Amino acid sequence: MYGGFTTERHERLRARVRAFAEAEARPRIPEMEATRTVHHELSRLIARQGWIGVTIDRAYGGMGAGHLAKTITIEELARVSGAMGAMVQASQLGVAKIAHFGSEQQKRTWLPAIARGDCLPTIAVTEPESGGHVLGMRATARREGDTYVLNGRKVFVGNSHVGDLHGVVVRTGPGSRGLSAFLLESDRPGFSLAPQQPAMGLHGFSFGELVMEDVRVPAANLLGEEGDGVAVAYSSSVLYGRANLTAVSLGIHRALVEETTAFAAARSLYGRPLAELDSVKQKLGRMQSSLMTAEAVAYHAVDLLDRGLPCDAELMNAKLVGVESSLDSARLAMEIHAACGLFTDRPIERFVRDAHHIYAPAGTSDVQRLRLAEVALGVAKGAQWSVRFGGGTELAAA
Ligand SMILES: Cc1cc2nc3c(=O)[nH]c(=O)nc-3n(C[C@H](O)[C@H](O)[C@H](O)COP(=O)(O)OP(=O)(O)OC[C@H]3O[C@@H](n4cnc5c(N)ncnc54)[C@H](O)[C@@H]3O)c2cc1C
Repeated sequence: MYGGFTTERHERLRARVRAFAEAEARPRIPEMEATRTVHHELSRLIARQGWIGVTIDRAYGGMGAGHLAKTITIEELARVSGAMGAMVQASQLGVAKIAHFGSEQQKRTWLPAIARGDCLPTIAVTEPESGGHVLGMRATARREGDTYVLNGRKVFVGNSHVGDLHGVVVRTGPGSRGLSAFLLESDRPGFSLAPQQPAMGLHGFSFGELVMEDVRVPAANLLGEEGDGVAVAYSSSVLYGRANLTAVSLGIHRALVEETTAFAAARSLYGRPLAELDSVKQKLGRMQSSLMTAEAVAYHAVDLLDRGLPCDAELMNAKLVGVESSLDSARLAMEIHAACGLFTDRPIERFVRDAHHIYAPAGTSDVQRLRLAEVALGVAKGAQWSVRFGGGTELAAA
């Protein structure tokens, strides 16, 4: 059991996901690295394991297993393939808006399909000039009778090129109450994808551009009320996004430590294992310490969320600590590998590239620190999302 947070059921889930990741994801990594494009088949295969529905209530066909179980699932996939950890986190992020704001009809229509792996959802908030500045977005929806007409572009959307159901947040009016969220099926006329641009890492995952040109959706596709867009975006980001990306970081971090430890034990220098050099031991010790700290803050935050306790600040801190410490460990891993780390016959350079991708989504470290400063100053705005939507999972009570 990790740090007293996980139960036997969590550890059984970990073992199952780890075995799957080793058997199905690891052999496909060379192909994903070579093509540098989205891996449709593996994404679907993972979805069919039911893991996108890990937090979906059993009443809607999900596992009802909670946020700690979600963290373990993502972490174990990311330990083998950062791209597939990112794929699962992005779709689970897409679940949040339906679970929190969906009507009963929307839940019944979409959650069982997502839980079965027949539908991969996304959430699309970011635009070219509105990353951290969500209110700067320009994409619009205008009401025409029983439909809304959507126009604009969304960029860096996780699972853009495998998603079946996009959750787009767009402008229906001015100001912070002028954002609204819609469910947009990917086969609607007027909807298209810009060609996937290869990025530095996470090969096999897509986070590309959605284009909406006079796309009509029924008014029934509105999530919540008109004006709920900011709440949909922020609650998804705080409760699912931060925890999910923390989990991707944690999986990559674990891989960095495992790979570097094995390398230092196997490589010989001055006629003895590299791991016996004091400088290398110091660095391995720092990496191990960072990993244990990242794990503790990650599991603590989602455990609080499963228990329905306030934890918005803990989720921010978990993302901050997880990302920053995995980047620190990535540098130490490269130092220990020296020239050997630079070639693609070893996975270490892949882990380093993938670790950098987790910095921006769900708030950069700058943004997490700003929000934490507001907590310290006692000026954090509004009720905590974790109080509004946390708790109620079956595993938490087990
Ligand atoms: C792998 C990946 C997956 C993603 N998935 C999704 C997704 O599923 N859906 C989606 O909508 N978007 C997604 N994104 C986009 C992500 O949400 C944005 O990258 C993020 O919001 C930051 O925006 P930006 O990258 O444009 O940086 P910017 O916001 O332009 O930031 C640029 C710099 O300014 C700093 N900065 C920004 N705001 C402030 C501030 N208020 N105070 C101080 N400094 C600040 C930042 O720290 C950064 O250093 C994803 C991105 C990545 C890399």
